[in-house]
Amino acid sequence: NHARTVSTQSRIYDISMSQELLNEQHMLERLKLALQEETLELYYQPQFDVRTGALCGAEALCRWNDEELGAISPIQFIHLAEERGLIHLLGDWVVRTAVAQLQEWLRDYEPFEGALSVNISARQFDDPFMANYLIDKVSDLPRGMFAVELTESIMMRNPQQGMQQLRRLHEAGFRIAVDDFGTGYSSLSYLTQFPISLLKIDRSFIQHMRPGNHQHSIVMTILAMANVLGLDTVAEGVETVEQEKLLKDMGCYCMQGFLRGKPTPAKEFAERWLNVKQ
Ligand code: C2E
Ligand code: MG
Ligand code: MG
Ligand code: MG
Repeated sequence: NHARTVSTQSRIYDISMSQELLNEQHMLERLKLALQEETLELYYQPQFDVRTGALCGAEALCRWNDEELGAISPIQFIHLAEERGLIHLLGDWVVRTAVAQLQEWLRDYEPFEGALSVNISARQFDDPFMANYLIDKVSDLPRGMFAVELTESIMMRNPQQGMQQLRRLHEAGFRIAVDDFGTGYSSLSYLTQFPISLLKIDRSFIQHMRPGNHQHSIVMTILAMANVLGLDTVAEGVETVEQEKLLKDMGCYCMQGFLRGKPTPAKEFAERWLNVKQ
């Protein structure tokens, strides 16, 4: 074993490094297996219009509860999938599952306002056929019911190709959301050039917002800008009545957060928030 033979000085360091690599390798194997056996799950988190209380959309969020490793945060396994070449496989499972779920809901429940959104990694758009792939997947769904959430990094990572693909998606009726807005680094010119439908205001601003503080001003500025550009907004991570009220007073009406509803399995989502067809 290599780690045992190194000199005492670097020994602890090397052993912990190799342990980390082993853990990562093991997690990767488990993730491959989970993808093969389709044991990942999609949860759905509702978004509500506070003026009417009506559902105004939902976000699909991936969950992995491994038999051996336990529940792993999507931040961790999505990152791993991106780094180790599994994101296309994982992303394909997410899209197929979300589309099938939406089809089932449209068959059995009254239609709801807004769209079902799925997170797509900037890396998935390295594939020049990503837009075609997505358009093909939703071809049996009514137009405008599907949204993709992208982080600002797509605009920086591959502006030309990214823009072309987003234009195609937009023309095909996709809604395009910028996720975690305000934390990345997107120029105003990109925001006007890309065919974006909505901004999701990052949870960190909502979380730290108090009347009159810095975060409150930032949120107000984002809302003013969205208004000028004709973009819809969703507030992420709304946990308290106070946060909801501050947002409403500033003209932000669509809320996603634990206050109104946590991400839940599809069955529970439908039972709680959808109306059965008459
Ligand atoms: P995100 O897209 O920004 O998703 C919102 C995250 O905020 C979710 O975390 C959600 O559970 C959490 N959240 C919602 N409301 C609240 C709240 O009131 N308080 C708090 N503390 N958290 C709230 P989650 O599910 O752990 O996902 C983390 C991130 O992992 C997502 O952030 C997204 O970037 C990524 N992710 C999740 N599923 C997928 C997927 O299917 N594909 C890709 N590419 N990324 C995914
Ligand atoms: Mg998201
Ligand atoms: Mg987000
Ligand atoms: Mg986030």
